[in-house]
Amino acid sequence: MYRRVSEDKALKGRASSWREVEEQVKEQEDAIRALAASLPDDVAIVRDYCDNNTPASDPFIIRQDFENMLKDLEAGVIRGILFLHSDRLARLVYDAARVCRVFEMNPQYIGLSVEGGVNLATVEGRGMFVMQATVGNMEIGNTRRRVTRTNRRVAEKGVMHGAPRPFGWGEDRRTLHDVEAKLIRKAILAIPGGYKIADFKRAVTEYGYVPKETKRSREGVRVIQHSAAEQILMSPRVCGYRFHIPEEVRRTAEGRLWLPDFIVYKDGKPVVGDWEAPCSPEEWQAAVDEVKRRKEANKKGLKSEKHDTTAVYFLSGIVRCGKCSTPMWSNPYTEGTTSYERWGFRYACLSSQGGCGGVTRMGPPIDDLAETAFLLETRATLGEVVKKAEEIDETVHDKRLNEIASEIEDANARRREKRISTSAALDLIEELEAEREKLTSKRGQLALQKRKKAILTPDALAGWENLTMTEKRTRLKAAVRAVIVHPLGRGKPFDPEMIEIVWQKNQTAA
Ligand SMILES: [Zn+2]
Repeated sequence: MYRRVSEDKALKGRASSWREVEEQVKEQEDAIRALAASLPDDVAIVRDYCDNNTPASDPFIIRQDFENMLKDLEAGVIRGILFLHSDRLARLVYDAARVCRVFEMNPQYIGLSVEGGVNLATVEGRGMFVMQATVGNMEIGNTRRRVTRTNRRVAEKGVMHGAPRPFGWGEDRRTLHDVEAKLIRKAILAIPGGYKIADFKRAVTEYGYVPKETKRSREGVRVIQHSAAEQILMSPRVCGYRFHIPEEVRRTAEGRLWLPDFIVYKDGKPVVGDWEAPCSPEEWQAAVDEVKRRKEANKKGLKSEKHDTTAVYFLSGIVRCGKCSTPMWSNPYTEGTTSYERWGFRYACLSSQGGCGGVTRMGPPIDDLAETAFLLETRATLGEVVKKAEEIDETVHDKRLNEIASEIEDANARRREKRISTSAALDLIEELEAEREKLTSKRGQLALQKRKKAILTPDALAGWENLTMTEKRTRLKAAVRAVIVHPLGRGKPFDPEMIEIVWQKNQTAA
């Protein structure tokens, strides 16, 4: 393995500290080791040659490890080299020719690059090597390649460094992964409509994804952890934003971090990465706000929210007793004759739960009735609902957000020109940042409201059969306030007239 990082033009000002240089050398090492791992088993890295901070384009400078490597190659101590890119190995025609000579004399040697696809064992490969290493007009392309790589590394530092590729992207970490990106997009769009992290976790598990760090469950099965599934979706990466977690935060963090807090801002605006994003910032923000809201609700111990995660009955929490108005409880029908068993479960007003205990009704016919009424009603009033959704303007704060961006920039400019003190500038900037945070959150809430209204669109209802129970319930609750079960004499047959549907206020009565 041969590695080198020099103070190239492309890296000047970036590789400012010795530590940075070291990190880049380490990065080369990781890439080369990955290449070695993909080769046949009898290939192993036995020596590591590393010329840190030594330019290869200056004929007056001897690169000590490069010289050692050539000697070892000639002596047969090593029988090949792996390197990141041709220009890491050689920049001068003379050096490139020396490398080629060894490979011409030893055609069985292995000589492969991670980038640029060079194979020194072939005549064509050596031609490419000399070209890539030495041709000046390729410099521009190389610079761009290095700068992008460096930028990417900076943005991903802390989360992705040395880690496997992020779920949702290909090995290059930029292009979307066909299946995984669709899973992410589907989840992000569905979260405001009631889709749960647990649903995503299930989808990811069904798809067969297992992160390396996963612990085995009691059954010995490895599945993605809830917090890991959440982190995939809550990563700003999903909408194209860069994020950065400071070293000390990462070191001292307990449990997983809330990634939306670590978006990188420049001149008051989120910095956008150079990778493809499965969804837009607005779509992502709506999902983030909803997940955050659920977390807070859970923390406060709101029963309905907790109840939702285990909801198996369509009308849990919606169906109420017609005598005393207490919510009815659903339970499976275990007693009774075969004629009752086909109903499966019933809704009951329980005195043990504070109800009058006077009303019990078989469940499925009530579910069917409520579902049919809801679908008919929603379809009939669609135009109005869609109009209401369109009336919500989530961009209303954008003007002020843009102003804040330029005000922050302005404060920085005045500080640089020493027109105001640094501490005065910081006061100003912190105040503006607080305002920005408030407005961004408001924008998210509006986008969320809009999405919540938009879940009752024809498109959303078209896939009704394929929605999860929780998603169906969320849509139902947007339209139906309660389903009242009026008392009926014992032994009387099911009567739809005794089921009353109470619509939400903004919905016209059925
Ligand atoms: Zn009751």
